[in-house]
Amino acid sequence: MPQLATDRVVTVGELIQYGIQQLTDPTTARLDCEILLCNILKQPHYFLYAHSDVVVEQRDIVDFNSLISKRANGFPVAYLIGEKEFWSLRLQVNQHTLIPRPETELLVEQALALIENINNCKILDLGTGSGAIALAIARERPDCSVTATDISLPTLAMAQQNAGLLGIRNVQFIHSDWYASLTSQSFDLIVSNPPYVESGDSGFINGDIRYEPRVALDGGSFGLDAFRRIVPGANMYLKSGGKLLFEHGHAQGELIRELLHANRFIEILTRQDYAGLDRITLAVLP
Ligand code: GLN
Repeated sequence: MPQLATDRVVTVGELIQYGIQQLTDPTTARLDCEILLCNILKQPHYFLYAHSDVVVEQRDIVDFNSLISKRANGFPVAYLIGEKEFWSLRLQVNQHTLIPRPETELLVEQALALIENINNCKILDLGTGSGAIALAIARERPDCSVTATDISLPTLAMAQQNAGLLGIRNVQFIHSDWYASLTSQSFDLIVSNPPYVESGDSGFINGDIRYEPRVALDGGSFGLDAFRRIVPGANMYLKSGGKLLFEHGHAQGELIRELLHANRFIEILTRQDYAGLDRITLAVLP
């Protein structure tokens, strides 16, 4: 990839234009470049437009070159800058954590609706990753206590760090393989965005997800392995009338509804994301 010469005067505007030319996806190229440059210059977004003729320092051009070439190879922007916004929370992320997706905010929205009328409720988030879901719910409902688990210790450390940085205290983090390390207790709501991508998905070879933790994404040959462990165990950890809420792949709704039905759940309902695709399913334990 051609590098931008650092021995001549380059303005903010020129640097953005150069960056856009290096990136292949035209739908995200400009935004990616702007986020990366803001991060390097430690300036807010409007600065790029208000000061597009400002000359960029050489060491910042070197840093930009380096980030752009990584981005051109598909490395996610969130990992390059070490953070991702989710539910208006600024979350730290690294390669041990799945990057929170905008569609997962739907899961939070739905979870909040389900617990709207329950005071001091207890919520379990299985496979918390960066802590996105657990922290968003905990921030909205300080009266509730959230338990968040993850099988990966470095992931859990990052989630814990996020709770600390955000000053959110009503989340307890537990290192656990789904329910394995939980003490016996009953929750009002179990929520999870488990790994649900099929093992054979080409994204693991050439998509941006190849840089994300496989354990957070790979759901086995049909993408359903995690659901097959979480659903049958849920009745041990839910109160009667408690709810189970999942994010899942757009083609998995029907199979997940069948799985829930086979495990005696009732009021099973799938909802669509903003793209109109099946994305979350909820059910009630009678
Ligand atoms: N939505 C993610 C993706 O398609 C998958 C998240 C998951 O497996 N939980 O990249």
